[in-house]
Amino acid sequence: MRIAAVDLFQVDLPVKGGVYRLSGGREYTSYDATIVRITTDCGMQGWGESTPFGATYVAAHAGGTRAALDLLAPALIGMDPRHHDRIWDAMRATLRGHRDARTALDVACWDIAAQAAGLPLCDMLGGRIPGPLPVISSIGGDTPEAMRAKVAAHRSEGFKGHSIKIGAQEVEGGPALDAERIRACLADRQPGEWYLADANNGLSPEHALRMQALLPDGPDFVLEAPCATWRETQSLRARCSVPLLLDELIQTEADLIQAIVNDSCDGVGLKVSKQGGITPMIRQRTIAASAGMVMSIQDTVGSEISCATILHIAQSTPRHLLRCALDTRAMIDITVAHLDAPVVNGGVEAPTLPGLGITPDLSVLGSPIESYGARP
Ligand SMILES: [Mg+2]
Repeated sequence: MRIAAVDLFQVDLPVKGGVYRLSGGREYTSYDATIVRITTDCGMQGWGESTPFGATYVAAHAGGTRAALDLLAPALIGMDPRHHDRIWDAMRATLRGHRDARTALDVACWDIAAQAAGLPLCDMLGGRIPGPLPVISSIGGDTPEAMRAKVAAHRSEGFKGHSIKIGAQEVEGGPALDAERIRACLADRQPGEWYLADANNGLSPEHALRMQALLPDGPDFVLEAPCATWRETQSLRARCSVPLLLDELIQTEADLIQAIVNDSCDGVGLKVSKQGGITPMIRQRTIAASAGMVMSIQDTVGSEISCATILHIAQSTPRHLLRCALDTRAMIDITVAHLDAPVVNGGVEAPTLPGLGITPDLSVLGSPIESYGARP
């Protein structure tokens, strides 16, 4: 089996609720998605996606994703899509870095490989672990009472895990506002619930330590991605009593190994298009599991294609180390593909169809904006 053609599609994913706010005054109203379709010489098709979280999250943006795909896609024509490590080698030999762009091609190859084997993707990634996956809710930065109300709304839908966005600038209220946000969100805490306070790299160690000092009763939460650099993170780690989960700082296998060697964190957020696709995700999953790290299986953002990818990886991740899966569908206001994986009582299961188990809606995707190779 050989890759005959690669088609790129572009679609805007509007933010559900209108606007999403992160630390440092970052706001997002829409995400620019790049969808890839790979067609093989025998007519099989696989789909992949890369949707950077705007241009100010990690070092990736949608224009760059497509520019990188313009180099990467032609390099894969004629290769066997089931040879995942060789596909990865070919992409590395073509273009340094740009894991966001590699992701869409890597995922489409895995979709084909699993369809060719007649298996749902999770059964190619170590095997399905039965049972619903815990889905995390995401609470954007707002006033403490508004965030408390959003936690209550998610609780009524059955969610057990809540990701609270923090990182107020000093003029907005700084560490005191962030401490109040955490206190408010945990105020109605129920048994079995867990909380992440996610700063998306927006805190200085000083900010984080001041916030901690304002929470002397030690509420039970995990601090996610507090600082933008390793120096700041290690400085905070040495003086912070709250468990740390790192996200944006860990993209490559080398980053993860560095975090383990330096004991920088207790968990890691693995995001499909941040790590570079399924091939590096499962390498990093093995490394993280070997170190006893808890994992959040996520993506930066994305459509049903991204969501299905997350669900298959999470469904095959050892349950005692799986902190959560992210339902990217809850972040956007558009349906790009059919995905039969409803969220019930805060839990969801990967589909049982072969491959990713998605059916893209071509009336939403439109015509390809770029094509490489020739479809049979
Ligand atoms: Mg995060």
